[in-house]
Amino acid sequence: MRDLSCKKILVAGGAGFLGSHLCERLLGEGHEVICVDNFFTGSKENLRAIEKHPRFEILRHDISCPLSIEVDEIYNFACPASPLHYQYDPIQTMKTSVLGAMHLLELSKRLRSKIFQASTSEVYGDPTVHPQPEEYWGNVNPIGFRSCYDEGKRCAETLFFDYWRQSAVRIKLGRIFNTYGPRMHPNDGRVVSNFIVQALSGQPLTIYGDGTQTRSFCYVDDLIDVIIKLMNTDDSITGPINIGNPTEYTISELAEQIREMTGSRSPIIYKPLPSDDPKQRRPDISKAKALLGWQPKVGVEQGLRETIAYFEGVLSGEGLESPIP
Ligand code: NAD
Ligand code: UDP
Repeated sequence: MRDLSCKKILVAGGAGFLGSHLCERLLGEGHEVICVDNFFTGSKENLRAIEKHPRFEILRHDISCPLSIEVDEIYNFACPASPLHYQYDPIQTMKTSVLGAMHLLELSKRLRSKIFQASTSEVYGDPTVHPQPEEYWGNVNPIGFRSCYDEGKRCAETLFFDYWRQSAVRIKLGRIFNTYGPRMHPNDGRVVSNFIVQALSGQPLTIYGDGTQTRSFCYVDDLIDVIIKLMNTDDSITGPINIGNPTEYTISELAEQIREMTGSRSPIIYKPLPSDDPKQRRPDISKAKALLGWQPKVGVEQGLRETIAYFEGVLSGEGLESPIP
């Protein structure tokens, strides 16, 4: 007989940075986990610690194509998240966001399963309201280099709410702000991984623009905590809910902090600011606090320490330990 406390859970994008942490956490909680991934930016390496776990399966599949599978819950993390990666094939990024969301929503409609969508602070674009509350509709360029991602994610949000209104699909929508931690890809182009790898390998730290733009950085463990909390709420809570750490840094401050913490002598160099790069970003997390009783526990210094240690291991070619008993 099946243990009802053990759910069968699909994690789309489970081989990526965030998805692989989620797979591990769900396995650790005793669930069966099916990772669906096309390995565009994810890797088997991210799953090395859990690939042989008896309650874990990997399915190579592109979610822009329909999928039929029997599960109790669905988390959709499938989509390249780094600007470098999502701009590599913008049409595929849009297909992943829009068609992928639609196929997973159809699945969840048939199965009556809950479905979580990893949305993003990019739905606010270059925000004119600061910090950003969920009620803010955003300031997004529909035809620029970032649009495939921003508008793709906005369209996915629309689909989630239309499936909820029209077909009573049990949706959970989290808007994730910049998140970092072990298992970010060393070359994925995002600021935390770039600066740490540059600092550790003695290369110049590359600030785009003048470094006065801001971001607010959340450590991956905090993020996984709140996503599982949101999934476990009753059907009246749909989101959107901002998920992030409201401590705001300028990019120059981040570069200085990473240089100091790594003891690096790397110089800082300035490169052109990419187009439509948001000038400021900080989540208003009042809703997450009130509805989920959540706020981040890991300060940026502690999170950076863990992440620097991880990249030191990666750069020295060390293996990674299994966190799952
Ligand atoms: P990532 O690139 O490391 O992971 C994305 C995963 O999705 C990879 O394993 C990739 O191979 C897979 N994927 C991409 N297209 C796919 C497709 N068509 N079919 C199946 N799998 C596909 O990125 P991440 O940082 O782990 O982000 C995961 C999710 O969280 C993304 O949806 C992203 O938009 C969202 N998000 C992340 C952040 C962040 O700061 N990390 C912020 C906001 C939102
Ligand atoms: N950035 C930077 N140097 C880098 C990588 C990024 O100055 O090597 C800047 C980037 O222009 C942006 C911020 O850091 O202003 C965050 O960039 P990231 O790609 O990590 O995330 P996003 O722009 O999607 O928030």
